[in-house]
Amino acid sequence: MANRKYIVGNWKMNGLQSELSDMAAIAQIAAAHSSVDVAICPPLTLVATASAQNPDFSIGTQDCHFNEKGAHTGCISAAMIQQAGASFSILGHSERRADQHETDAEIKAKAEAVHALGLGAIICVGETEAERDAGKAVEVVCGQLAGSFPDHADPSWLTIAYEPVWAIGTGRVPQARDVEEMHAAIREKLKTLMNSGADAVRILYGGSMNGANAAELLAVANVGGGLVGGASLTAEKFGPIIEAAVTS
Ligand code: PEP
Repeated sequence: MANRKYIVGNWKMNGLQSELSDMAAIAQIAAAHSSVDVAICPPLTLVATASAQNPDFSIGTQDCHFNEKGAHTGCISAAMIQQAGASFSILGHSERRADQHETDAEIKAKAEAVHALGLGAIICVGETEAERDAGKAVEVVCGQLAGSFPDHADPSWLTIAYEPVWAIGTGRVPQARDVEEMHAAIREKLKTLMNSGADAVRILYGGSMNGANAAELLAVANVGGGLVGGASLTAEKFGPIIEAAVTS
């Protein structure tokens, strides 16, 4: 598994029933490239239908609450996403850290909640532009990783996504050497956080990945795949990223 690239699409707040044809087309491309692990995280409203329509395709969610049930208006539990057909959840995306003020402790609790039901987690970390300019990128990212790192972590269910905040949705991508430096730092930090298995945890890169830059990014040492926003919305844009992952 560790050597297989993992390409995950995050549809964010995009996608109505009419976009399920894009999901089906992406699932078809994924089936034709069996050496790559591919998944899509649509909005929650599409998860049940998407998983029913594409039973062999991996569907995830973009968040999950850490409590099993209770008075949390608008929130969704791990059991609920599992029942809808999701097999994992993205957790701690920078948009949620910023917009919903999610803390590292909450993200850790969310990861433990999904793992308790046998689901996977992708924990997102990433620095702002101001933090990078201040020379604090590695410190910030490793701090987020340590704070949100779940108990009983294992590469079979845990994935990390490094997403520099300033690269998300901007068309700006870090230099390959900066991606390499950060992924190496994350790998070293994982070794201090886990008794074993740190070398097998996949560390995805996310932030303006597209068909034109995917091959270069995916070839960087310690890059185990990509977390893709805008370019995951259609098969036309996502397909070339999956294809780049086959050869990288
Ligand atoms: C994301 O939000 O996870 C992301 C990487 O977005 P984009 O690819 O649009 O930059």
